[in-house]
Amino acid sequence: MTQTLKISLDELAVFGGSPAFAEQLHVGRPNIGDQEKFQARVADILERRWLTNGGPYLEKFEEQIAALAGVKHCIAMCNGTVALEIAIRALGMTDEVIVPSFTFIATAHALQWQEITPVFCDVDPNTHSLDPVKLEQLITPRTTGIIGVHVWGRPCEVEALSEIAKRHQLKLLFDAAHAFCCSHKGQMIGGFGDAEVFSFHATKFINSLEGGAVVTNDTKLAEKIQLMRNFGFTGYDKTEYIGTNGKLDEVSAAMGLTNLESMEEFVDINRRNYKQYQHELSGVKGLSIFEFDESEQCNFQYVVLDVEESETVVNREQLLEILHGENILVRRYFPGCHRMEPYSSRFPQAGLVLPETERLSQRVLCLPTGTAIGPDAVSLICEIIRTVVSQGTEARERILRREMQFGQGARLR
Ligand SMILES: *Cc1c(COP(=O)(O)O)cnc(C)c1O
Repeated sequence: MTQTLKISLDELAVFGGSPAFAEQLHVGRPNIGDQEKFQARVADILERRWLTNGGPYLEKFEEQIAALAGVKHCIAMCNGTVALEIAIRALGMTDEVIVPSFTFIATAHALQWQEITPVFCDVDPNTHSLDPVKLEQLITPRTTGIIGVHVWGRPCEVEALSEIAKRHQLKLLFDAAHAFCCSHKGQMIGGFGDAEVFSFHATKFINSLEGGAVVTNDTKLAEKIQLMRNFGFTGYDKTEYIGTNGKLDEVSAAMGLTNLESMEEFVDINRRNYKQYQHELSGVKGLSIFEFDESEQCNFQYVVLDVEESETVVNREQLLEILHGENILVRRYFPGCHRMEPYSSRFPQAGLVLPETERLSQRVLCLPTGTAIGPDAVSLICEIIRTVVSQGTEARERILRREMQFGQGARLR
């Protein structure tokens, strides 16, 4: 890592300088716990020749997740998307289900994959999650459920959504892919609604390589999901339901268990990075970092920068282009599901009823964090951002001039 400070725009890579970072910095580079312990576990798995189908590592992983989430049942799966699909099917959702558009595409795809129409609802600009008032207006006789997403690990308006679901007799599922080990009013995420779904994908704060889980306090539902995860088998050559293969293998479960042992360290690093970004960017006009309720538990796995163009002059896209030039691979989370296929063709007018989603998707950027990012990197990233924003007018002009000169090809990536 080169430590030259960016004091002038000329030194930026997009304007002819060399990148601040020799290596690419990612938003979600995997957090990895004790490698020796993981390797010993893999050796043990190979020795036992029990690779999947409810082995000891899977059972232990499920027990620990259930305990951490404060729920009765955890059914671990091969990934979060399959966990969503199975939970949706087990809950009997059909026809139309209301979801935010401001989420990762898997939330919508998990419905559409089963030919259930995702009905996109706008979000509250302060919480980035479902707006309960707008949600209620979207309920039709075809609506069978709601999927709330705890975006960035900040819980949805759980009470309001539960009350609406109850009053309209709708199923309520939470996509808690971001919210493992976060709490709402002192209660851990996991026990709200009919069920909640975690993701343990490599980029998530705790990973099991690939992985996910459904958690619930509903014993009947848990039994149904358990069968559906394994083709619907209730015994040799006997099935109860249509099922699929959603099983989590032993090596993945061992990775999950190993990473859980380092969870506190991961949270500490995420929190430290978060606080440093917040501190070093505080007072920069037009920039703010998405906030969390400090009285709750939080995994701090996302640092979300909001860019108010009227104050920074240089806009979100231009800032992204500059940062990518420096090998700082900030991401546009989320572009909005309604703007992606097949939804953009199916609902070309969706944006009209999603003004806050459209607005947010134009102004937020996720910054690199996690255990691969240290204090020096955060300092340099903040320094570059401050340099650019403090000369916003000139930065904007130079980026525009560069684009006119080279066209879209000027964009590095
Ligand atoms: C990561 C993620 C998923 C999907 O999880 P996978 O384990 O990658 O399948 C679903 N929803 C949200 C909000 C996510 O961030």
